[in-house]
Amino acid sequence: MQQEILDQPQSRSTIFGHPKGLFVLFFTELWERFSFYGMRAILVLYLTEQTAGDNPGFGWTNQEALALYGWYGMMVYFMGIFGGVAADRWLGQKKSVLIGGIFIILGQFSLAIEGLAFFYTGLVLLVCGVGLLKPNISTMVGGLYRKGDSKRDAGFTIFYIGINIGALVAPIAVGTVAENIGWHLGFSLAGFGMIVGQLVYIGFRKHLDGVGDLLKHSKTDAHLVDQPLTKVEKDRIIVLLLSFLIVIVFWAAYEQAGGLMNLYARDSVDRVIFGWEIPTSYFQSLHAFYVVLIGGPMAWLWLKWSKRGKESSAIFKYAVGMIIMSVSFLLLMGAVYEASLSAIGKSSMHWLFLSYFLHVVAELCISPISLSYITKLAPAKYASFMMGAYFAIVGLGNKAAGILGETADSAGEMYVFSVIAIACAVIGVLLFFLVKKLKALSHGAEDETETPLTYVEPE
Ligand code: GLN
Repeated sequence: MQQEILDQPQSRSTIFGHPKGLFVLFFTELWERFSFYGMRAILVLYLTEQTAGDNPGFGWTNQEALALYGWYGMMVYFMGIFGGVAADRWLGQKKSVLIGGIFIILGQFSLAIEGLAFFYTGLVLLVCGVGLLKPNISTMVGGLYRKGDSKRDAGFTIFYIGINIGALVAPIAVGTVAENIGWHLGFSLAGFGMIVGQLVYIGFRKHLDGVGDLLKHSKTDAHLVDQPLTKVEKDRIIVLLLSFLIVIVFWAAYEQAGGLMNLYARDSVDRVIFGWEIPTSYFQSLHAFYVVLIGGPMAWLWLKWSKRGKESSAIFKYAVGMIIMSVSFLLLMGAVYEASLSAIGKSSMHWLFLSYFLHVVAELCISPISLSYITKLAPAKYASFMMGAYFAIVGLGNKAAGILGETADSAGEMYVFSVIAIACAVIGVLLFFLVKKLKALSHGAEDETETPLTYVEPE
Protein backbone atom coordinates (compact mmCIF):
# COMPACT_ATOMS: atom_id res chain seq x y z
CA MET A 1 0.00 0.00 0.00
CA GLN A 2 1.29 3.44 -0.92
CA GLN A 3 2.51 5.59 1.93
CA GLU A 4 3.29 9.25 1.86
CA ILE A 5 5.43 11.02 4.37
CA LEU A 6 3.86 14.36 5.09
CA ASP A 7 5.86 15.55 7.98
CA GLN A 8 9.36 15.03 9.27
CA PRO A 9 12.30 13.07 7.96
CA GLN A 10 13.15 9.65 9.25
CA SER A 11 16.34 9.24 11.24
CA ARG A 12 19.35 9.79 9.00
CA SER A 13 22.98 8.80 8.99
CA THR A 14 25.16 11.68 10.04
CA ILE A 15 28.59 13.26 9.65
CA PHE A 16 29.80 15.55 12.47
CA GLY A 17 26.37 15.12 14.04
CA HIS A 18 24.56 16.51 10.99
CA PRO A 19 22.61 14.56 8.36
CA LYS A 20 24.76 13.51 5.40
CA GLY A 21 22.27 15.24 3.12
CA LEU A 22 23.45 18.56 4.56
CA PHE A 23 26.82 18.04 2.95
CA VAL A 24 25.25 17.13 -0.39
CA LEU A 25 23.34 20.41 -0.30
CA PHE A 26 26.45 22.20 1.00
CA PHE A 27 28.53 21.17 -2.03
CA THR A 28 25.73 21.66 -4.54
CA GLU A 29 25.12 25.19 -3.27
CA LEU A 30 28.85 25.89 -3.03
CA TRP A 31 29.18 25.27 -6.76
CA GLU A 32 25.97 27.10 -7.59
CA ARG A 33 27.30 30.15 -5.72
CA PHE A 34 30.67 29.71 -7.45
CA SER A 35 28.79 29.96 -10.72
CA PHE A 36 26.67 32.89 -9.46
CA TYR A 37 29.42 35.02 -7.95
CA GLY A 38 31.91 34.16 -10.68
CA MET A 39 29.54 35.43 -13.33
CA ARG A 40 28.59 38.47 -11.25
CA ALA A 41 32.22 39.41 -10.77
CA ILE A 42 32.84 39.78 -14.50
CA LEU A 43 29.45 40.96 -15.76
CA VAL A 44 30.01 44.71 -15.47
CA LEU A 45 33.63 44.45 -16.58
CA TYR A 46 32.59 42.54 -19.68
CA LEU A 47 29.81 44.97 -20.55
CA THR A 48 32.03 48.03 -20.25
CA GLU A 49 35.05 46.58 -22.06
CA GLN A 50 35.66 48.22 -25.42
CA THR A 51 34.45 46.50 -28.55
CA ALA A 52 37.88 46.51 -30.17
CA GLY A 53 40.87 44.66 -28.73
CA ASP A 54 42.03 41.16 -27.85
CA ASN A 55 39.28 40.48 -25.39
CA PRO A 56 36.39 42.67 -26.54
CA GLY A 57 33.25 43.44 -24.59
CA PHE A 58 30.10 45.39 -25.44
CA GLY A 59 31.54 48.89 -24.98
CA TRP A 60 28.67 50.04 -22.74
CA THR A 61 28.98 53.06 -20.45
CA ASN A 62 29.40 52.48 -16.70
CA GLN A 63 25.92 53.76 -16.11
CA GLU A 64 24.34 51.40 -18.63
CA ALA A 65 26.25 48.45 -17.22
CA LEU A 66 25.37 49.29 -13.61
CA ALA A 67 21.71 49.70 -14.52
CA LEU A 68 21.60 46.22 -16.03
CA TYR A 69 23.56 44.85 -13.10
CA GLY A 70 21.02 46.38 -10.70
CA TRP A 71 18.08 44.88 -12.55
CA TYR A 72 19.75 41.52 -12.80
CA GLY A 73 20.62 41.57 -9.07
CA MET A 74 17.04 42.30 -8.17
CA MET A 75 15.35 39.94 -10.63
CA VAL A 76 17.56 37.01 -9.80
CA TYR A 77 16.30 37.10 -6.21
CA PHE A 78 12.80 38.25 -7.05
CA MET A 79 12.28 35.20 -9.22
CA GLY A 80 12.55 33.19 -5.99
CA ILE A 81 8.84 33.81 -5.45
CA PHE A 82 7.99 31.96 -8.64
CA GLY A 83 10.57 29.31 -7.87
CA GLY A 84 8.89 28.80 -4.51
CA VAL A 85 5.38 28.62 -5.95
CA ALA A 86 6.51 26.20 -8.65
CA ALA A 87 7.98 23.93 -5.97
CA ASP A 88 4.93 24.08 -3.68
CA ARG A 89 2.42 23.43 -6.43
CA TRP A 90 3.99 21.33 -9.12
CA LEU A 91 7.54 20.22 -8.72
CA GLY A 92 8.54 19.84 -5.10
CA GLN A 93 11.83 21.36 -3.99
CA LYS A 94 14.06 18.50 -5.03
CA LYS A 95 13.06 18.61 -8.68
CA SER A 96 13.06 22.41 -8.70
CA VAL A 97 16.71 22.43 -7.66
CA LEU A 98 17.56 19.98 -10.42
CA ILE A 99 15.73 21.92 -13.13
CA GLY A 100 17.08 25.24 -11.78
CA GLY A 101 20.61 23.87 -12.03
CA ILE A 102 20.07 22.85 -15.65
CA PHE A 103 18.77 26.35 -16.47
CA ILE A 104 21.86 27.84 -14.85
CA ILE A 105 24.23 25.64 -16.84
CA LEU A 106 22.44 26.54 -20.08
CA GLY A 107 22.48 30.20 -19.05
CA GLN A 108 26.20 30.32 -18.37
CA PHE A 109 27.03 28.58 -21.65
CA SER A 110 24.69 30.90 -23.49
CA LEU A 111 26.70 33.82 -22.08
CA ALA A 112 29.80 32.05 -23.30
CA ILE A 113 28.60 32.42 -26.90
CA GLU A 114 29.30 35.66 -28.75
CA GLY A 115 26.34 37.94 -29.54
CA LEU A 116 23.70 40.02 -27.83
CA ALA A 117 20.87 37.54 -28.37
CA PHE A 118 22.80 34.79 -26.57
CA PHE A 119 23.75 37.26 -23.87
CA TYR A 120 20.16 38.18 -23.01
CA THR A 121 18.99 34.59 -23.34
CA GLY A 122 21.72 33.65 -20.87
CA LEU A 123 20.60 36.26 -18.36
CA VAL A 124 16.96 35.16 -18.56
CA LEU A 125 17.96 31.53 -18.09
CA LEU A 126 20.08 32.47 -15.07
CA VAL A 127 17.30 34.49 -13.48
CA CYS A 128 14.88 31.56 -13.89
CA GLY A 129 17.47 29.01 -12.81
CA VAL A 130 18.58 30.80 -9.64
CA GLY A 131 14.94 31.59 -8.85
CA LEU A 132 14.16 27.88 -8.96
CA LEU A 133 17.26 26.66 -7.21
CA LYS A 134 18.19 29.13 -4.48
CA PRO A 135 15.06 29.24 -2.28
CA ASN A 136 14.32 25.56 -2.74
CA ILE A 137 17.72 24.23 -1.83
CA SER A 138 17.50 26.38 1.32
CA THR A 139 14.11 24.90 2.22
CA MET A 140 15.53 21.43 1.71
CA VAL A 141 18.18 22.08 4.37
CA GLY A 142 15.35 22.63 6.85
CA GLY A 143 13.73 19.38 5.69
CA LEU A 144 16.73 17.43 6.96
CA TYR A 145 16.06 18.32 10.60
CA ARG A 146 13.35 17.18 12.89
CA LYS A 147 11.13 19.69 14.63
CA GLY A 148 12.75 21.17 17.71
CA ASP A 149 16.23 19.95 16.70
CA SER A 150 18.60 22.47 18.26
CA LYS A 151 21.12 21.71 15.50
CA ARG A 152 18.98 23.24 12.79
CA ASP A 153 20.45 26.76 13.06
CA ALA A 154 23.95 25.31 13.13
CA GLY A 155 23.09 23.24 10.04
CA PHE A 156 22.06 26.38 8.19
CA THR A 157 25.27 28.10 9.25
CA ILE A 158 27.33 25.19 7.89
CA PHE A 159 25.34 25.43 4.65
CA TYR A 160 26.07 29.16 4.67
CA ILE A 161 29.79 28.50 4.94
CA GLY A 162 29.54 26.44 1.73
CA ILE A 163 27.86 29.38 0.03
CA ASN A 164 30.71 31.62 1.03
CA ILE A 165 33.49 29.27 0.02
CA GLY A 166 31.96 29.44 -3.47
CA ALA A 167 31.63 33.21 -3.20
CA LEU A 168 35.23 33.59 -2.05
CA VAL A 169 36.91 31.48 -4.71
CA ALA A 170 34.74 32.35 -7.71
CA PRO A 171 35.67 35.99 -8.37
CA ILE A 172 39.35 35.09 -8.21
CA ALA A 173 39.07 31.99 -10.43
CA VAL A 174 36.50 33.24 -12.93
CA GLY A 175 37.88 36.80 -12.86
CA THR A 176 41.42 35.67 -13.63
CA VAL A 177 40.35 33.46 -16.53
CA ALA A 178 37.94 36.05 -17.92
CA GLU A 179 40.29 39.03 -17.77
CA ASN A 180 43.45 37.26 -18.86
CA ILE A 181 42.21 34.72 -21.37
CA GLY A 182 38.70 35.67 -22.42
CA TRP A 183 35.27 36.63 -21.10
CA HIS A 184 33.55 33.72 -22.74
CA LEU A 185 35.89 31.25 -21.13
CA GLY A 186 35.10 32.93 -17.81
CA PHE A 187 31.38 32.35 -18.28
CA SER A 188 32.12 28.76 -19.33
CA LEU A 189 34.09 28.22 -16.13
CA ALA A 190 31.08 29.46 -14.16
CA GLY A 191 28.99 26.96 -16.15
CA PHE A 192 31.39 24.13 -15.31
CA GLY A 193 31.07 25.05 -11.65
CA MET A 194 27.32 24.46 -11.87
CA ILE A 195 27.89 21.17 -13.68
CA VAL A 196 30.01 19.99 -10.75
CA GLY A 197 27.20 21.10 -8.41
CA GLN A 198 24.65 19.08 -10.38
CA LEU A 199 26.86 16.01 -10.40
CA VAL A 200 27.17 16.15 -6.62
CA TYR A 201 23.41 16.63 -6.30
CA ILE A 202 22.53 13.73 -8.57
CA GLY A 203 25.35 11.43 -7.48
CA PHE A 204 24.55 11.64 -3.76
CA ARG A 205 20.79 12.06 -3.97
CA LYS A 206 20.22 8.93 -1.87
CA HIS A 207 21.06 11.06 1.20
CA LEU A 208 18.14 13.30 0.36
CA ASP A 209 15.49 10.61 0.47
CA GLY A 210 12.18 11.93 1.76
CA VAL A 211 13.36 15.55 1.58
CA GLY A 212 11.97 18.12 -0.83
CA ASP A 213 9.31 15.93 -2.44
CA LEU A 214 6.01 17.35 -3.54
CA LEU A 215 3.26 17.03 -0.94
CA LYS A 216 0.88 14.80 -2.84
CA HIS A 217 -2.84 15.28 -2.85
CA SER A 218 -4.85 12.16 -2.28
CA LYS A 219 -8.47 11.64 -1.36
CA THR A 220 -7.79 11.31 2.34
CA ASP A 221 -5.27 14.07 2.79
CA ALA A 222 -7.08 16.53 0.52
CA HIS A 223 -8.57 18.12 3.60
CA LEU A 224 -5.08 18.72 4.99
CA VAL A 225 -3.92 20.49 1.89
CA ASP A 226 -6.93 22.50 1.00
CA GLN A 227 -7.86 23.54 4.49
CA PRO A 228 -7.70 27.29 5.24
CA LEU A 229 -4.85 28.39 7.46
CA THR A 230 -5.35 27.91 11.18
CA LYS A 231 -4.98 30.78 13.67
CA VAL A 232 -1.57 29.46 14.72
CA GLU A 233 -0.37 29.31 11.11
CA LYS A 234 -1.65 32.80 10.43
CA ASP A 235 0.11 34.19 13.51
CA ARG A 236 3.34 32.55 12.46
CA ILE A 237 3.06 34.08 9.02
CA ILE A 238 2.61 37.49 10.66
CA VAL A 239 5.81 36.97 12.64
CA LEU A 240 7.62 35.98 9.46
CA LEU A 241 6.37 39.04 7.61
CA LEU A 242 7.56 41.25 10.47
CA SER A 243 10.94 39.57 10.38
CA PHE A 244 11.06 40.33 6.64
CA LEU A 245 10.93 44.04 7.46
CA ILE A 246 14.04 43.65 9.57
CA VAL A 247 15.66 41.71 6.78
CA ILE A 248 15.11 44.57 4.30
CA VAL A 249 16.84 47.03 6.62
CA PHE A 250 19.66 44.60 7.29
CA TRP A 251 20.43 43.94 3.60
CA ALA A 252 20.03 47.62 2.74
CA ALA A 253 22.79 48.28 5.29
CA TYR A 254 24.94 45.28 4.45
CA GLU A 255 24.91 45.82 0.71
CA GLN A 256 26.55 49.22 1.13
CA ALA A 257 29.67 47.07 0.97
CA GLY A 258 29.68 46.71 -2.79
CA GLY A 259 28.45 50.25 -3.42
CA LEU A 260 29.09 53.21 -1.15
CA MET A 261 31.67 51.49 1.08
CA ASN A 262 33.47 50.29 -2.04
CA LEU A 263 33.73 53.83 -3.40
CA TYR A 264 34.64 55.10 0.04
CA ALA A 265 37.45 52.55 0.24
CA ARG A 266 38.68 53.67 -3.15
CA ASP A 267 38.61 57.41 -2.51
CA SER A 268 38.97 58.02 1.21
CA VAL A 269 40.91 55.13 2.74
CA ASP A 270 44.68 54.90 2.87
CA ARG A 271 45.19 51.38 1.52
CA VAL A 272 48.97 51.37 1.40
CA ILE A 273 50.70 48.65 3.35
CA PHE A 274 54.49 48.13 3.18
CA GLY A 275 54.59 50.42 0.17
CA TRP A 276 51.93 48.43 -1.71
CA GLU A 277 48.45 49.75 -2.29
CA ILE A 278 45.79 47.09 -1.77
CA PRO A 279 43.40 47.16 -4.76
CA THR A 280 39.96 48.38 -3.71
CA SER A 281 38.23 45.33 -5.15
CA TYR A 282 40.11 43.02 -2.76
CA PHE A 283 37.98 44.35 0.07
CA GLN A 284 35.01 42.77 -1.67
CA SER A 285 36.28 39.32 -0.75
CA LEU A 286 36.38 40.18 2.94
CA HIS A 287 32.78 39.25 3.68
CA ALA A 288 33.04 35.76 2.29
CA PHE A 289 36.46 35.30 3.87
CA TYR A 290 35.18 36.25 7.32
CA VAL A 291 32.12 33.98 6.98
CA VAL A 292 34.33 31.03 6.20
CA LEU A 293 36.61 32.00 9.09
CA ILE A 294 34.05 32.54 11.83
CA GLY A 295 30.95 30.71 10.57
CA GLY A 296 31.92 27.51 12.41
CA PRO A 297 32.82 29.14 15.75
CA MET A 298 29.67 31.28 15.63
CA ALA A 299 27.43 28.25 15.04
CA TRP A 300 29.19 26.46 17.89
CA LEU A 301 28.80 29.42 20.22
CA TRP A 302 25.08 29.80 19.55
CA LEU A 303 24.58 26.08 20.05
CA LYS A 304 26.44 26.17 23.35
CA TRP A 305 24.47 29.23 24.35
CA SER A 306 21.13 27.54 23.64
CA LYS A 307 22.18 24.30 25.37
CA ARG A 308 22.77 26.32 28.52
CA GLY A 309 19.11 27.20 28.32
CA LYS A 310 19.72 30.83 27.39
CA GLU A 311 17.48 32.85 25.13
CA SER A 312 18.35 31.84 21.58
CA SER A 313 15.26 32.50 19.53
CA ALA A 314 15.66 33.93 16.05
CA ILE A 315 14.22 37.27 17.15
CA PHE A 316 16.84 37.51 19.89
CA LYS A 317 19.58 36.74 17.37
CA TYR A 318 18.16 39.37 15.02
CA ALA A 319 18.31 41.90 17.86
CA VAL A 320 21.95 41.05 18.57
CA GLY A 321 22.74 41.19 14.85
CA MET A 322 21.13 44.60 14.35
CA ILE A 323 23.01 46.11 17.30
CA ILE A 324 26.29 44.74 15.97
CA MET A 325 25.44 46.12 12.53
CA SER A 326 24.84 49.48 14.13
CA VAL A 327 28.28 49.37 15.76
CA SER A 328 29.87 48.52 12.40
CA PHE A 329 28.45 51.74 10.96
CA LEU A 330 29.58 53.70 14.02
CA LEU A 331 33.08 52.55 13.10
CA LEU A 332 32.60 53.86 9.58
CA MET A 333 31.53 57.19 11.04
CA GLY A 334 34.81 57.10 12.94
CA ALA A 335 36.60 56.59 9.64
CA VAL A 336 34.86 59.56 8.02
CA TYR A 337 35.74 61.69 11.04
CA GLU A 338 39.37 60.61 10.96
CA ALA A 339 39.58 61.34 7.23
CA SER A 340 38.19 64.81 7.83
CA LEU A 341 41.06 65.51 10.24
CA SER A 342 43.81 63.99 8.11
CA ALA A 343 46.03 66.09 5.86
CA ILE A 344 45.52 63.73 2.90
CA GLY A 345 41.79 63.43 3.50
CA LYS A 346 42.02 59.69 4.11
CA SER A 347 41.36 57.41 7.05
CA SER A 348 43.37 54.34 7.99
CA MET A 349 42.03 51.01 6.75
CA HIS A 350 41.59 49.25 10.08
CA TRP A 351 38.14 50.86 10.30
CA LEU A 352 37.18 49.04 7.15
CA PHE A 353 38.58 45.67 8.21
CA LEU A 354 36.79 45.90 11.53
CA SER A 355 33.56 47.17 10.09
CA TYR A 356 33.42 44.34 7.53
CA PHE A 357 34.16 41.90 10.32
CA LEU A 358 31.21 43.15 12.35
CA HIS A 359 29.04 43.04 9.23
CA VAL A 360 29.73 39.35 9.05
CA VAL A 361 29.13 38.70 12.75
CA ALA A 362 25.76 40.41 12.25
CA GLU A 363 25.15 38.51 9.01
CA LEU A 364 25.68 35.22 10.80
CA CYS A 365 23.14 36.27 13.45
CA ILE A 366 20.59 37.12 10.79
CA SER A 367 20.99 35.51 7.39
CA PRO A 368 21.33 31.75 8.03
CA ILE A 369 19.06 32.20 11.04
CA SER A 370 16.36 33.64 8.77
CA LEU A 371 16.56 30.65 6.46
CA SER A 372 16.26 28.34 9.43
CA TYR A 373 13.42 30.38 10.94
CA ILE A 374 11.37 30.23 7.76
CA THR A 375 11.59 26.44 7.70
CA LYS A 376 10.30 26.40 11.29
CA LEU A 377 7.46 28.88 10.93
CA ALA A 378 6.06 28.54 7.43
CA PRO A 379 3.10 26.18 7.03
CA ALA A 380 4.35 23.14 5.07
CA LYS A 381 2.21 23.85 2.03
CA TYR A 382 3.70 27.34 1.68
CA ALA A 383 7.23 26.48 2.79
CA SER A 384 8.89 27.12 -0.57
CA PHE A 385 6.77 30.17 -1.31
CA MET A 386 7.80 31.80 1.98
CA MET A 387 11.44 31.06 1.25
CA GLY A 388 11.00 32.55 -2.21
CA ALA A 389 9.35 35.61 -0.68
CA TYR A 390 12.34 35.96 1.63
CA PHE A 391 14.71 36.10 -1.31
CA ALA A 392 12.45 38.62 -3.03
CA ILE A 393 12.80 40.73 0.11
CA VAL A 394 16.57 40.33 -0.12
CA GLY A 395 16.27 41.65 -3.68
CA LEU A 396 14.38 44.69 -2.37
CA GLY A 397 17.02 45.22 0.30
CA ASN A 398 19.66 45.26 -2.43
CA LYS A 399 17.72 47.85 -4.36
CA ALA A 400 17.18 49.95 -1.22
CA ALA A 401 20.92 49.78 -0.56
CA GLY A 402 21.59 51.36 -3.94
CA ILE A 403 19.09 54.16 -3.37
CA LEU A 404 20.49 54.83 0.10
CA GLY A 405 24.07 54.81 -1.16
CA GLU A 406 23.23 57.29 -3.91
CA THR A 407 22.07 59.88 -1.37
CA ALA A 408 25.69 60.16 -0.18
CA ASP A 409 26.35 62.17 -3.35
CA SER A 410 24.36 65.08 -2.01
CA ALA A 411 24.22 64.43 1.75
CA GLY A 412 27.68 62.98 2.36
CA GLU A 413 28.89 59.66 3.73
CA MET A 414 28.66 60.72 7.37
CA TYR A 415 24.95 61.29 6.94
CA VAL A 416 24.27 57.93 5.28
CA PHE A 417 26.40 55.96 7.72
CA SER A 418 24.79 57.64 10.72
CA VAL A 419 21.25 57.10 9.41
CA ILE A 420 22.04 53.41 9.02
CA ALA A 421 23.69 53.19 12.46
CA ILE A 422 20.67 54.80 14.12
CA ALA A 423 18.11 52.72 12.20
CA CYS A 424 19.86 49.45 13.07
CA ALA A 425 20.24 50.43 16.73
CA VAL A 426 16.58 51.43 17.07
CA ILE A 427 15.39 48.20 15.47
CA GLY A 428 17.80 46.14 17.57
CA VAL A 429 16.66 47.67 20.85
CA LEU A 430 13.03 47.39 19.85
CA LEU A 431 13.50 43.73 19.06
CA PHE A 432 14.97 43.03 22.49
CA PHE A 433 11.71 44.30 23.95
CA LEU A 434 9.61 42.34 21.49
CA VAL A 435 11.32 38.96 21.86
CA LYS A 436 8.71 37.61 24.28
CA LYS A 437 5.72 38.97 22.37
CA LEU A 438 6.88 37.68 19.01
CA LYS A 439 7.78 34.33 20.48
CA ALA A 440 4.26 34.09 21.88
CA LEU A 441 2.87 34.96 18.45
CA SER A 442 4.93 32.19 16.90
CA HIS A 443 3.22 29.72 19.26
CA GLY A 444 6.38 27.93 20.29
CA ALA A 445 7.40 27.07 16.72
CA GLU A 446 11.03 27.08 17.76
CA ASP A 447 10.55 24.95 20.82
CA GLU A 448 8.33 22.28 19.35
CA THR A 449 9.71 18.91 20.03
CA GLU A 450 9.60 15.93 17.78
CA THR A 451 6.22 14.93 16.53
CA PRO A 452 5.78 11.39 15.29
CA LEU A 453 5.97 10.72 11.57
CA THR A 454 2.64 11.22 9.91
CA TYR A 455 1.72 8.60 7.40
CA VAL A 456 -1.36 8.78 5.29
CA GLU A 457 -2.71 5.61 3.83
CA PRO A 458 -5.09 6.34 0.97
CA GLU A 459 -8.26 4.30 0.98
N1 GLN B 1 25.67 35.75 0.45
C1 GLN B 1 24.56 34.89 0.63
C2 GLN B 1 24.24 34.10 -0.61
O1 GLN B 1 24.72 34.35 -1.66
C3 GLN B 1 23.37 35.66 1.05
C4 GLN B 1 22.63 36.24 -0.07
C5 GLN B 1 21.46 36.93 0.46
O2 GLN B 1 20.60 36.29 1.07
N2 GLN B 1 21.48 38.20 0.28
O3 GLN B 1 23.46 33.21 -0.53
